[in-house]
Amino acid sequence: MERENISSIASALVVGGGIGGMATAISLAERGVAVDLVDLDPEWRVYGAGITITGPTLRAYRRLGLLEPIKQAGAITNKTRLFRFDGTHIKDLDEPVIEEGLPATGGIMRPVLHKIMQQRVRELAIPVRLGLTVTALESDAHGVDVTFSDATSGRYELVVGADSVASGLRALAFPHMAPPVPTGQGCWRISIRKPPGMDAGEFFLGNANPCGITPCSPDSVYMWMLTEHVERESFMTDEELYTTLKGLLVDFGGNAGWIRDTMTREDWINYRPLAAALQPRPWYQGRVVLLGDAVHATTPHLASGAGMAVESGIVLAEELARTNTVGEGLQAYEDRRFERCRDVIESSIAIGNLQLQHRPPEEHARLLEGALERLNAPF
Ligand SMILES: Cc1cc2nc3c(=O)[nH]c(=O)nc-3n(C[C@H](O)[C@H](O)[C@H](O)COP(=O)(O)OP(=O)(O)OC[C@H]3O[C@@H](n4cnc5c(N)ncnc54)[C@H](O)[C@@H]3O)c2cc1C
Repeated sequence: MERENISSIASALVVGGGIGGMATAISLAERGVAVDLVDLDPEWRVYGAGITITGPTLRAYRRLGLLEPIKQAGAITNKTRLFRFDGTHIKDLDEPVIEEGLPATGGIMRPVLHKIMQQRVRELAIPVRLGLTVTALESDAHGVDVTFSDATSGRYELVVGADSVASGLRALAFPHMAPPVPTGQGCWRISIRKPPGMDAGEFFLGNANPCGITPCSPDSVYMWMLTEHVERESFMTDEELYTTLKGLLVDFGGNAGWIRDTMTREDWINYRPLAAALQPRPWYQGRVVLLGDAVHATTPHLASGAGMAVESGIVLAEELARTNTVGEGLQAYEDRRFERCRDVIESSIAIGNLQLQHRPPEEHARLLEGALERLNAPF
């Protein structure tokens, strides 16, 4: 696809090579900017969970040119099946197709998605430096002098902080911003073989701990469960994670029960407390800008944090290409992203609060459906 080139900057540094950072690097490089990417992880890995890719997220990946490899390596579905937690089928929800030719929804294993994005970064010959971060920034009207943790330095016309919830770049350049706030819930995840015959996403409702299963390839799924946060669970051994999750699933039937009965100690199991934060505007200062969880960290209730990060990367590049100066481009990026990200974060927290208060599932469903419908609007 022909992209309009960016004329206001010739070079950019992207700090953080996760979902948002790679989407940004790809989008800027495709518009003629010389991008450097750095990531703190010397091996540039991602953990072994699956990830739900909603219709709007698939739309963003299509804009990035990565829909086909995601369709091939992941799982595409067109409905979500609702069950009572004991496995009694309630109804099937048809997922809307929000753009012609776009699949309705899907899932993929995170390491597979990472490889797809990394391959595109390499195709664009974006230099990637691993095992380092930024330790100092000095800005003037024309650029930013950057010092890296290996004592090397560089000068860039734009610096993008996409280094996630605990963003080091945010702490350096936006010290007034606070780290994300715990929401009181935690998320359990397990990556496992696909239950026989499963062909759609599944939700299990009516238990204090809602859970769901997302197909991620022809033979793999991941299951998530939201619980009230218990501090001890953040520090569990692998054995404790295995037995605790098995115990949490004791009353579940259907494929959730199948997972409880067939899960092994070799399956990837994780517990993580949830936190969220919508950072106050402005999201940029001079030529330094934040993106992804660094500035709009959400909880998984709408399965949209990664989608928001990809959209933000695309919008940043689109707005820089559409405007004449860096300042105008960054302001237009923030204006286009703030309300949409606010809606996702506030709706996600509100759904979590209903779960913590044990409100009836119909109330969650109403909030969830409204928020997902708003997300279908163009970004
Ligand atoms: C339990 C859970 C389930 C979720 N499920 C979904 C889902 O189903 N669908 C969905 O769309 N979203 C989901 N999300 C949200 C999604 O994972 C995030 O919103 C998304 O990964 C954010 O992308 P990012 O690029 O901002 O950060 P990340 O993807 O976390 O990437 C950050 C990168 O920065 C690097 N880094 C960190 N610190 C530094 C530093 N100081 N210097 C340099 N590099 C650094 C890291 O190594 C990493 O590579 C979920 C989140 C949670 C917590």
